[in-house]
Amino acid sequence: MRDADVIVVGGGHAGCEAAAAAARLGARTVLVTHKIETIGEMSCNPAIGGLGKGHLVREIDALDGLMGRVADRAGIQFRLLNRRKGPAVRGHRAQMDRKLYKKEMLAALTAQENLEIVAAEANEILFENKKVSGIRLGTGEEIGAPSVVLTTGTFLRGVIHRGDVSTPAGRIDEAPVVGLAKCLDTLELPLGRLKTGTPARLLKSSIDYSVLEEQKGDDVPEMFSVLSSGPVVPQVSCYITRTNLNTHRIIEDNIHRSAMFSGKIKSRGPRYCPSIEDKIVRFAGRDEHQVFLEPEGLDSDLVYPNGVSTSLPEDVQIAFLRSMPGLENVELVRAGYAIEYDYVDPRALHHTLEVKNRKGLFFAGQINGTTGYEEAAAQGLLAGANAALFAFGRPQIRMSRTQSYLGVMVDDLVTRGISEPYRMFTSRAEFRLHLRADNAADRLTPLGIETGLVGKPREALFEKQRLALGRAREKLETLSATPQQAAQHGLLLNKDGVRRSAYQIMSYPDADAKKLKSLWPELASIPDDIFEKLEIEAKYAVYLDRQQQDIDALRRDESREIPDWIAYEDLSGLSVEIRQKLSAQRPETIADAQAIDGVTPAAILLLLSIIKRGRLEKTA
Ligand code: FAD
Repeated sequence: MRDADVIVVGGGHAGCEAAAAAARLGARTVLVTHKIETIGEMSCNPAIGGLGKGHLVREIDALDGLMGRVADRAGIQFRLLNRRKGPAVRGHRAQMDRKLYKKEMLAALTAQENLEIVAAEANEILFENKKVSGIRLGTGEEIGAPSVVLTTGTFLRGVIHRGDVSTPAGRIDEAPVVGLAKCLDTLELPLGRLKTGTPARLLKSSIDYSVLEEQKGDDVPEMFSVLSSGPVVPQVSCYITRTNLNTHRIIEDNIHRSAMFSGKIKSRGPRYCPSIEDKIVRFAGRDEHQVFLEPEGLDSDLVYPNGVSTSLPEDVQIAFLRSMPGLENVELVRAGYAIEYDYVDPRALHHTLEVKNRKGLFFAGQINGTTGYEEAAAQGLLAGANAALFAFGRPQIRMSRTQSYLGVMVDDLVTRGISEPYRMFTSRAEFRLHLRADNAADRLTPLGIETGLVGKPREALFEKQRLALGRAREKLETLSATPQQAAQHGLLLNKDGVRRSAYQIMSYPDADAKKLKSLWPELASIPDDIFEKLEIEAKYAVYLDRQQQDIDALRRDESREIPDWIAYEDLSGLSVEIRQKLSAQRPETIADAQAIDGVTPAAILLLLSIIKRGRLEKTA
């Protein structure tokens, strides 16, 4: 029998990061996936990043993951969303050349030491005394390993719906996974069904671009990875069309034929990524919806119409698409569809993404109820790293909400569960001023260096930037000016005669790089990226200090021990379910209590207030 430290099942976005992370930690890793040619496949839109999602890609990059670097190499249009808003809510997004993304991902995996790729279907997970011992492939071959990461995406008992036709499938033209789904049935895991959908793919040459609004990429593209210096392939534009009242009428007239509305689909889809028929029903007052026409690649004939995913029959899809400007003669290369699949209630997982009732079994990606490549990849990195650490008997990584979007996502998933496919948003993070895309490396690379996830080139770059930042900060703190001197360069301060350091002056809202460099020409030697980082730091200093105090308080609270005298059964302010869980598990610390599924933030606050008061009063 072949032997490994970690087996990763599935070569999607979660699986690629999981396999690479485990291998980076030195684990002998086997990635088992259906087909080599679908490694890194983007099942839906040809884009990486976006609001909240871009932060996740930056965090993956900070831990030396692959997604950012690969996306930079395959990117054909880069845009920084929310550029005019504060740095905390800016989102990096880029259109991908779909084929190139897969090629670059495969190249990155192939170049990774300790990693072997096997094209096969995993049929069964093998256990010895409730501990993972390996997997059995469809061919009957067994591979032994103490830890397995499952990243099977939408494949578990997948069913595709289009109009009144339903076909078992994991993705279009790919078979569903039934063997492994049956194996999961035997593990007493809470399984559910979810739904997602994708629009039709359009033939580029059938679109009349002359009437469409062009959307170009940024003049100075910002990369996902700190290791990338700029795009490597030619850049292209996207185009915008819009639905109209005629489009809406066609959809309304045929709504009963949509699998979503005919009752064929019973599960929930992502509320924030609704199908076009959903939008027409939910936003009945709107006269139009924007549709972005995104190229699928530099040499591709396909165009992805972003915003019109649907489970309507093909004839209705053709009719509503042809009602939009520029698409009057559009040809469909493939019709859109919806897909239903099994997921595992993530409350069955620890914060490490290991399942609670089996040692060595980890889950990551869409199987945990999330949607999106970035959400999947970030979980994959964590699960893969922890699977390797588990195999080596080393302490596993647990991300905090105060440290990363990855921590926020995992905490949301494992403590609250989901009621619809979970997608990342900046609004989910309570410490979002601190969790910015620009400081992802400062937040996470030290952890990556400490655990061994980060390789030498990134470690060296991080060190170099840290020193440069320190030197630049020192320089800004030594230079100073009076309000009068500053005013001569357009920097308006309180006229109080007080000398302020360049760093203090930088914190004023209208103190930009140009004015500061005209006052102190020696600042011109500070590289732009370092200057920008310090500017954000200075301008946010007050808010960040306040947020840091909240973070410190939360961290202190997390490590607070729960005294023995707490009688959970007397806490009538808590639900019966929470009281029972706490009584049964008797967590030692607040962090342990938070990790119990179903224990809400409100319950934690109540517990904390009782501990701080030092006595129990009956909460009526
Ligand atoms: P996947 O990318 O699905 O990868 C799973 C991999 O596992 C595949 O390579 C598969 O071959 C392999 N595999 C599965 N079972 C086995 C097995 N037993 N043995 C070996 N290999 C196996 N996301 C959005 O953000 N917005 C959207 O609008 C959106 N729409 C979508 C529409 C459709 C139709 C689909 C299918 C997905 C959509 N998604 C969307 C979701 C997005 O594609 C996923 O979130 C993302 O790909 C999940 O990554 P993953 O790694 O978890 O799984």
